[in-house]
Amino acid sequence: MSKGHIRDEWLLPTLETLLSKESVGVLRTAVQESYWESAVRRGFISDDEILTALASRFHMKIANLSLAAPQAREHVPESLARKYRIVPLTITDSALEIATADPHDLDCERTLAFATGRTVKMSLAAPTKIAERLDELYRPENVVSKILENVSANYDIQAIADVQSQEDMELGGEKASSERPIIRLVDHIFAEGITSRASDIHLEPEEGGVAVRYRIDGVLRQTMVLPRAAGIPLVSRIKIMSGLDIADRLRPQDGRARVAVNGVPIDLRVSTLPASQGEKVVVRILDTRATVLSLDGMGLRADELERIKRLLEMREGVILVTGPTGSGKTTTLYSALRQIQTRGVNIVTVEDPVEYRLQGVVQVQVHEKAGLTFATALRSILRQDPDVVLVGEVRDRETAATAVQASLTGHLVLTTLHTIDAASSITRLTDIGVESYKLAAALKGIVAQRLLRRVCPQCREVWMDPIPDRLRPWIPAGTPLFRAAGCDHCAKTGYRGRMAVVEVLVSNAEVERRISAGESVDRVADAAREGGMRSLWESGVSRVIGGDTTIEELLRVLEVPQEDPSRPAARPSSSPAGRKGGAREAPHANSRALEPSPVPASAVHDAAFELLDDLTPHAKARREHATVLLVEDEEPLRRVLRELLEREGFTVIEASDGVLALDEVDRGAPDIVVLDLNLPRLDGYGVLSHLRARQATSALPVIVLTAKGDEDSEVRVFEYGASDFLTKPFRPRALSARINALLGRARQVD
Ligand SMILES: [Zn+2]
Repeated sequence: MSKGHIRDEWLLPTLETLLSKESVGVLRTAVQESYWESAVRRGFISDDEILTALASRFHMKIANLSLAAPQAREHVPESLARKYRIVPLTITDSALEIATADPHDLDCERTLAFATGRTVKMSLAAPTKIAERLDELYRPENVVSKILENVSANYDIQAIADVQSQEDMELGGEKASSERPIIRLVDHIFAEGITSRASDIHLEPEEGGVAVRYRIDGVLRQTMVLPRAAGIPLVSRIKIMSGLDIADRLRPQDGRARVAVNGVPIDLRVSTLPASQGEKVVVRILDTRATVLSLDGMGLRADELERIKRLLEMREGVILVTGPTGSGKTTTLYSALRQIQTRGVNIVTVEDPVEYRLQGVVQVQVHEKAGLTFATALRSILRQDPDVVLVGEVRDRETAATAVQASLTGHLVLTTLHTIDAASSITRLTDIGVESYKLAAALKGIVAQRLLRRVCPQCREVWMDPIPDRLRPWIPAGTPLFRAAGCDHCAKTGYRGRMAVVEVLVSNAEVERRISAGESVDRVADAAREGGMRSLWESGVSRVIGGDTTIEELLRVLEVPQEDPSRPAARPSSSPAGRKGGAREAPHANSRALEPSPVPASAVHDAAFELLDDLTPHAKARREHATVLLVEDEEPLRRVLRELLEREGFTVIEASDGVLALDEVDRGAPDIVVLDLNLPRLDGYGVLSHLRARQATSALPVIVLTAKGDEDSEVRVFEYGASDFLTKPFRPRALSARINALLGRARQVD
């Protein structure tokens, strides 16, 4: 169709079927403007209504503009895209798909076909959306500038360049006009993250754009979405700042950068990872000022602090600190060392990695490759007879045995384990191979820990809703509670800062006897409770009742216990409100109804069952919530496994290659991963080594699927850190049995 003074004359017949005569009349008098835009601007009709009508009239598709691929853009020069007001969407060897608001534009079709040497396929989009998308595609810096206009810069940030000044100068020169907004954007993202107290910043390309997320007080939160086209220059800028190879987008890279925010130098650890929609970047902010290194600064309740301090007065024995990744174990250990240091004793640590430097303490870094393992380092340290030894983590029998032995010969040994509560650490150590009687003699105490965010005191709101049924046994009706809101003071999160909640098991004669006799976790815990131990849950609930945090935060971090809260030992004993109402309002039958597990009624009421097999109800309840990430490129096998696992009560998420798998681990936070070895893009070994290298996933259970008769890979997968493997072909039941075994063994909570 030829272009008159109004370019979308062809639209009129369609509009006439949709609008009143008067409206069409108004449109006709408006010269110089397209009918489409004019009709929408005047509020006669929406873009979507026009699109729907056109799609059915001309049998055309409505375009998804967020799917515009960079390759398609590279084949269509900006001048042509702007002249014809089209967005190049996808391109193959034979066809180019574009989005247009004018499917009758034959000139456009012919020119693009000629310019690209391909058939042109058209789909429909609204003119204003096309204009916006054109800017994002071809002029990301304009869009970025627009974002920056709305940003108030109340900080001053400078990249401190050492290694990469040359590239920086390049950017400062010729290319400056188009690169500068990107530089400013990166500065803004970093400065905003640092001033909002983020511990890390994630930049992740997704379908709709590049998502920017900050982790504040341990929780990841999205703060903006940038146009997809800004992704590559953005990542390049960060790579330049941190001395990485900007040309290599296919391999993961790690680097460091240093910036000064308001004159304070901050170190950044930058890692890039090829992901499904482009490179993902994670920036860790290493702000040493934020490190709490004193027990008094951890926000513990006074009675809990007192119990821990008493433990640390011991001259010999083993003290364990347990909890999942991110529970603040390391901080507690270092704070404990500081506390012990005041006694003027000789302290040596063996760690992997050494996370903080402590003055006056000899710190040994493990070097597995050089043969310096936890066990060998520990043995040579003990020859020098220090008073106190900190072992970063006990992962194997040898280290555990050496540590226990040392503690029985006059040393105080501090160490950590990944377990969900204090008592299950005992099972973990006996599972590793420590003899019960030795452990019983050596163990002085266990601190299980979690971090809860503190509700922001500036904006917290009084919580008026009735207390949820499942929490009634612990929180009496009428208790004034708070909920999070969000203000400038707390970066709109509603929370500011964190505090530790703990369960402090102090060994006593009865605890020692039960451990030595190999009694169950619950029996040991009972003895510890009689000695005054309060559970993690009780510690958390008391902070909710005390107004320090919210019910949401408590439930985010801890599960509602399945045990009967009317049992005397489990009552929230030190909160007066709890003592008054909590126990009395929790009749036995009601508390039973709290159990989320699908345990048959007969089993629940048969006490003998629980005594004989006390792990089963836990395992079942856990399985009910457990999420399995299934990484398998063969679709039929994936489908079969998915069905099976879902029947067994698992939540299943899937990935068809290694790169997607790493994405899904971040996004879906699975409890366990089932990983095929042969995968496109990044194979199973690659996935494993990534998971193990990152702190957040270093302990995530992984079952590897190996091919039959390949003993070599069976050995290798363990070297790469697999928790278990299964040889294909296998019976489906074998897989779920292994998953249950691993989840049951780990009783993992994160
Ligand atoms: Zn606030």
